[in-house]
Amino acid sequence: MTRFLNKKLFRYLYLFLFINSSILPIKSSSDLAAWALKTNGVLELRTKSNTNLKAYFQKANQIYGDRFWVDFPGELKNPRIIKGNGPIKEIRLGKPNQGKTRLVIEFNKETYLAPLTWRMVGLDQNRWRIKLFKPKYSFNKISEGQIEKKRRINIKANENSGFIKKRNNEFLQLPNVKQNKFLVIIDPGHGGPDPGAIGIGGIRETDVVLQVSKIVEKLLLEKGVKVKLTRSNEVDLDLPPRVSFANNTDANIFVSIHANASRGKRRDINGLETFYFRGWRGRLLAKRIQKQILRVSPGSPDRGVKQGRFYVIKNTKMPAALVEIGFLTGRLDARRLEKTSHRKRIAYAIAKGILEYLSKVG
Ligand SMILES: [Zn+2]
Repeated sequence: MTRFLNKKLFRYLYLFLFINSSILPIKSSSDLAAWALKTNGVLELRTKSNTNLKAYFQKANQIYGDRFWVDFPGELKNPRIIKGNGPIKEIRLGKPNQGKTRLVIEFNKETYLAPLTWRMVGLDQNRWRIKLFKPKYSFNKISEGQIEKKRRINIKANENSGFIKKRNNEFLQLPNVKQNKFLVIIDPGHGGPDPGAIGIGGIRETDVVLQVSKIVEKLLLEKGVKVKLTRSNEVDLDLPPRVSFANNTDANIFVSIHANASRGKRRDINGLETFYFRGWRGRLLAKRIQKQILRVSPGSPDRGVKQGRFYVIKNTKMPAALVEIGFLTGRLDARRLEKTSHRKRIAYAIAKGILEYLSKVG
């Protein structure tokens, strides 16, 4: 997503203004999630989705050098000053007034900037980029937080396909388990202002995993398994409440459902993987789910069952797995995950893996 902005010259050079249709109330926490000023002169920002950014430039005077700043909705908890290097004097994160966060980049006087050429580019709903200067200055990157969520990439992923031969028959056969004996927590990843991965054609992880989770819920309920979802709509839900929600029940298992994105949005990276954190039960649960999702995703690489230190599977007290149902940035996976028919197949596979686990381990 790219947006252009009109420019006006006042006392300040008022650079650009992003307008979102919704009026945002004063927020308690800042919309600025992470930022990085990179050695090529590019400032990258990660924000909450669909935020209102305002960026400004002020020319140097006798006291100060050039100054660039961006205002975000939401208040910063801890204003701070970060010492610069090279062309950057310092970077300040402040609270200019109630309900606002301001990121100021203060340049040294000898830094040459060409603000009329500046353009803020939206990379997706929550990432932004602006080139502030040419990479002729040598300096060290200054950043806070992670601009892109870390994704696990395994280039050696093999080409295991696993074709579905009896797909239609299989759909009618989910293992039976004892009625009303089990409780399963399903955790659809992300939600609300956090869309998770954004893939080809703008497909969003939050939408995909919520639909899949609801179908898993329905299938398990039909089998007499009690189910609780950590979220059932687009709400902002942090990781700790998901865990405490689960830990306050006596659920048998916890399954978090996610979809992947590769760094650089490589279309040739596709595949499925399932994580567990501890215990043979967690591992068995992950294995059963992984095996089933592979069967409904022919040609998509098996990235395996792995141990992963993800918060929700690390901190839940019951056996837990986190499944990545494909790469929204991958050509093969995205084309499938776009369709409700495939989401149903994936949901069926996850439900089957869960039921197999429950019937075996209980
Ligand atoms: Zn995710």
